[in-house]
Amino acid sequence: MSKEIPYKIYLEENEMPKQWYNVRADMKNKPAPLLNPGTGQPMTAEELEGVFCKELVAQELNNTDAYIDIPEEIRSFYKMYRPSPLVRAYCLEKALGTPAHIYYKFEGNNTSGSHKLNSAIAQAYYAKKQGLKGVTTETGAGQWGTALSMACAYFGLDCEVYMVKVSYEQKPFRREVMRTYGASVTPSPSMKTSVGRKINEEFPGTTGSLGCAISEAVEAAVSKEGYRYVLGSVLSQVLLHQSIIGLETKAALDKYGIKADMIIGCAGGGSNLGGLISPFAGEILRGEANYDILAVEPASCPSLTRGKYLYDFCDTGRVCPLAKMYTLGSSYIPAPNHAGGLRYHGMSSIVSQLYDDKIIRATSVTQTDVFKAAEQFARTEGILPAPESSHAIKVAIDEALKCKESGEAKNIVFGLTGTGYFDMVAYQKYNDGEMENYIPTDEELAESIAKCPKI
Ligand SMILES: *Cc1c(COP(=O)(O)O)cnc(C)c1O
Repeated sequence: MSKEIPYKIYLEENEMPKQWYNVRADMKNKPAPLLNPGTGQPMTAEELEGVFCKELVAQELNNTDAYIDIPEEIRSFYKMYRPSPLVRAYCLEKALGTPAHIYYKFEGNNTSGSHKLNSAIAQAYYAKKQGLKGVTTETGAGQWGTALSMACAYFGLDCEVYMVKVSYEQKPFRREVMRTYGASVTPSPSMKTSVGRKINEEFPGTTGSLGCAISEAVEAAVSKEGYRYVLGSVLSQVLLHQSIIGLETKAALDKYGIKADMIIGCAGGGSNLGGLISPFAGEILRGEANYDILAVEPASCPSLTRGKYLYDFCDTGRVCPLAKMYTLGSSYIPAPNHAGGLRYHGMSSIVSQLYDDKIIRATSVTQTDVFKAAEQFARTEGILPAPESSHAIKVAIDEALKCKESGEAKNIVFGLTGTGYFDMVAYQKYNDGEMENYIPTDEELAESIAKCPKI
């Protein structure tokens, strides 16, 4: 007989993973290499080390080692807020009247409020180990900037954050949390960098975008001695660090003999999704098991479901290496009424390759449906979810309702990436009935995709 499943499945400290899992080692078709935009050749370690920390470059280029040790210092930091619970959503199941079993891995139990701290602490650790003075980065909604500020405070590093202007203005308290942890926060596009000045000139009054803030942060890092640039999503090194989510999830499920049928995650740049699914995708790739893995993205920024698999710029200012990914084009900016996050134009190259190889599926959802699911989740499970996370909630609920019709008792696992306390302007719009959906036309997407470099 199987053990009775508690509301929260925790791991003991000694059951926590000691190594990250690198899914690239098990992929037959490796993600395409980053290219130098000048030469069109794969970026060398040396070139990348001008922008990124040395050890992180090694991880970025590592397609062969399946397991990479988590340094002791990072493991002890993880212990402050991990293992994160895998929660059985008994109350939601009851409200839906579904025979499905729903589980969610909750990453919101730290001050930054999301999974981003898992990679922030790793990146800050390697920067410190290299003897750097500080790091620069971009942040959109603010979760990454907050996580990085916390990590930099812990290791005594300087932290410069370029925050997308619209978020800077809409989320003053996010900014203050970052400043409280010692970071300096600049609205982007700013007049501090040449790329920022150029974008301001070309698009007067622009409210900014992630791609634009990335360009500024990279420029700030390479133009100052002792600084490197760090990124909170998209890169393969970030997915590696985030594999802690999937490894813990798998260990918790195994502890109770539960076999997941579906695994659902929201996808912005692909880091939480990639981290959650990595160990499961690894099993599929090695022919050991089968799972139905589903990426959920906003209908207003549908890179997997409506983008093209091409080499593209990672940033608006076109200063970063080129990455092959499902993309909407680096000039694509979601409509101003888009409030649900996940606004990056591209997608992690690992997730893109897994999707192209049909190891995972993808779907898109509109933001009013997302907030409706968020509201239902908050009222039944108690947690106020981040809008990003609520994309996964929406699809988990839909799948559980399908089970209600078919009578199947599927095990549905989804990633609850964070909490939504700083997203109340978006919730307010929803509560006031003023939230609208915007779905880009094929023509709009074709126009920005046409601007991708021809490689
Ligand atoms: C940043 C963020 C996301 C999206 O980023 P990914 O790299 O796609 O994981 C999702 N949820 C929350 C709460 C976030 O902060």
